[in-house]
Amino acid sequence: HVISDRFAILMNEFDENIIKKRLINISNKIKDKINTNYLFEIVVTQGVYKITDSKSNIAVYTDRAHVAQMAIKDFYSNDGINFFDETWEETDAMTFDIEHKQDNALKENQFHVYYQMKKNIKDDTWYGAEALVRWIDPIHGMILPGVFIPLFEKNGFVIKVDLYVFERVCQDLNEILSLGGKPLRISVNVSRSHLLHNNFLNQYFDIMRKYNISPDLVEFELTESMAYESKNILICVINEIHKFGSTCSIDDFGSGYSSLNMLKDISADVLKIDMGFLRASENEAKGLDILESIITLAGKLGMKVITEGVETKKQLYMLVEMGCDMYQGYYFSKPIPVDEFEKKYNIK
Ligand code: C2E
Ligand code: MG
Ligand code: MG
Repeated sequence: HVISDRFAILMNEFDENIIKKRLINISNKIKDKINTNYLFEIVVTQGVYKITDSKSNIAVYTDRAHVAQMAIKDFYSNDGINFFDETWEETDAMTFDIEHKQDNALKENQFHVYYQMKKNIKDDTWYGAEALVRWIDPIHGMILPGVFIPLFEKNGFVIKVDLYVFERVCQDLNEILSLGGKPLRISVNVSRSHLLHNNFLNQYFDIMRKYNISPDLVEFELTESMAYESKNILICVINEIHKFGSTCSIDDFGSGYSSLNMLKDISADVLKIDMGFLRASENEAKGLDILESIITLAGKLGMKVITEGVETKKQLYMLVEMGCDMYQGYYFSKPIPVDEFEKKYNIK
């Protein structure tokens, strides 16, 4: 049973080191006095708010100090002291702002699809392109998916966004093909949230039928984190994708707790190596060995390997040596809007 008392101190000091020293002094005194006489350990944690906005009142200041204290996860590191971070409130406001505006943004077509080319390494031809969503807000300008997708995964809105993106992709493809353009394989990111809904793939398949898109032009990017939910569901999803005639890849491989065991059970067509893994391996002998072994292993398991986030010639040469099949990255091209994409690659 934990019962805690709370005390507030108002200090006339702004230097974090001096504040910290005084607080450590206080907590040591409390601990010395109490811990020697009792069987239980007393833990002292302290949150600090440095008053930078003089317009609020004492209740707001102690609240912020309390928030800083509550944010301490490990009692034993940092001497149990935490300073309030001004960006926390901005993040909260931003979250509120995004969730507040999401429905309207979808209605007003503020979500846009950008395309990034993927290249085959061996013959320097195109393998396809990845569709990446951008939110272009009339006030904030472009918002990257790293900001809103994690939020939408929490509140469920990602399902609508993913399907919207897919519909736009099929529309774009249909237009390119009907104007006599070259067929190009497009991949879309599928959030793990879809797994909660039975037969979610039927919606994707219906959209493909609606725009008369041949299934082999679509690749679904799944993530290995989907296997945490349920490996069996992931296996079924991949089977269904294959039965329909499309392909799938495992995105962000090497970014989380990658399990080689998972590769044994899953028959994806492409393994996408996360750019963080490339960066971490690049300058380290062991890392390079692991990267090369994964590329070889994936080949043996019948998968192609693509590395994302390739930015330099050096990285590309390294991947060529290692026998990697495809690459994607700023070195060749950034994600760009569809009309620019069509012009740049002369697709139409
Ligand atoms: P991802 O699927 O792993 O996509 C790769 C990310 O790396 C993209 O970021 C891309 O712009 C970026 N990138 C590509 N080449 C380079 C490079 O050479 N250097 C660097 N520094 N970055 C590079 P982006 O577009 O910001 O997307 C971030 C993530 O958001 C994606 O990671 C994906 O997980 C998610 N996402 C994007 N679009 C969608 C979508 O329509 N639906 C869902 N569910 N998730 C999406
Ligand atoms: Mg992806
Ligand atoms: Mg990725």
